[in-house]
Amino acid sequence: MITKEDALNLKYRDELHFKECRKKVGPRDGVKITNTIVRVNGKTKTWKRDLNRFEVPISHGLYDHGYIDERNAYDFHLPKDCPLLKE
Ligand SMILES: [Zn+2]
Repeated sequence: MITKEDALNLKYRDELHFKECRKKVGPRDGVKITNTIVRVNGKTKTWKRDLNRFEVPISHGLYDHGYIDERNAYDFHLPKDCPLLKE
């Protein structure tokens, strides 16, 4: 989850993880990590009239662009909050 405070502290090119990060231990102890990394692509936007609202422009790869906002923020987390770090 990305909070508005997190969003305001993000810098251009910061990495964020989208949805669930998974680690799978395969045969011969090969560890496979599945995660989707997006990058901050511009400045976080906020609204004075609507304090809960925020928008972080992000990109995934070269052609995929979008926004994190207060409605989809649950789908993202900071690398330092990655559940894989706790395993
Ligand atoms: Zn993660």
